Amino acid sequence: MSREQDDMLRRGIGMTSQRTRERLIQRLYEEGVSNPKVLEVIRRTPRHLFVDEALAHRAYEDTALPIGHNQTISQPYMVARMSELLLEAGPLDKVMEIGTGSGYQTAVLSQLVERVFSVERIKVLQDRAKERLVELNLRNVVFRWGDGWEGWPALAPYNGIIVTAVATDVPQALLDQLAPGGRLVIPVGSGEVQQLMLIIREEQGFSRRFLGSVRFVPLLNGPLA
Ligand code: SAH
Repeated sequence: MSREQDDMLRRGIGMTSQRTRERLIQRLYEEGVSNPKVLEVIRRTPRHLFVDEALAHRAYEDTALPIGHNQTISQPYMVARMSELLLEAGPLDKVMEIGTGSGYQTAVLSQLVERVFSVERIKVLQDRAKERLVELNLRNVVFRWGDGWEGWPALAPYNGIIVTAVATDVPQALLDQLAPGGRLVIPVGSGEVQQLMLIIREEQGFSRRFLGSVRFVPLLNGPLA
């Protein structure tokens, strides 16, 4: 990490109590997040900069919070868990994220993998997320305003894909864009019945693991201005 980036992230720390942040890390650890890199990145990423000022005092609670447009910033536990699942088999080079939202998961990922390709359908959310990442000097991310059901075929294949909204079915385009050995972490279902899934492209076909029930906003159709 550059000196400048380190300073920037540290300044963020001054804005909310260090103790509140430590409590969050402790809680994630107790809930089973065990990858030390993931915990360290969450510790140093200023989540309060990804929500409205009015909600900043709640930024280190382990809960989703509204970010406007009927969307939410993901719960820290889910961000940590999904990142850990992506990285379980070793470091990753190219990772595509569907659902930039506030950019918080994007910021976490960008400190854990080589390059992030982030797709979002709501332009104003993505523009704001972009600004935040520049402010934090996290520069290994490129953004596309578009429909996550289609992925980002021009830059495929990806070693990892993470979807931060719940899909009724696993989008075929995302399976097609996985590199051999690539990992897709995606919530699948609808309403109250949602399961987190890890899908891996094996030499022949795909393996699937179900990882328990979750709660996400829906993966909608088509881009939106
Ligand atoms: N990881 C984000 C979560 C945002 S909520 C964060 O922590 O802030 C889910 C996001 O997925 C929303 O921003 C929503 O607009 C976006 N989304 C929903 N359907 C989509 C689609 N079809 N394509 C791209 N993004 C989509």
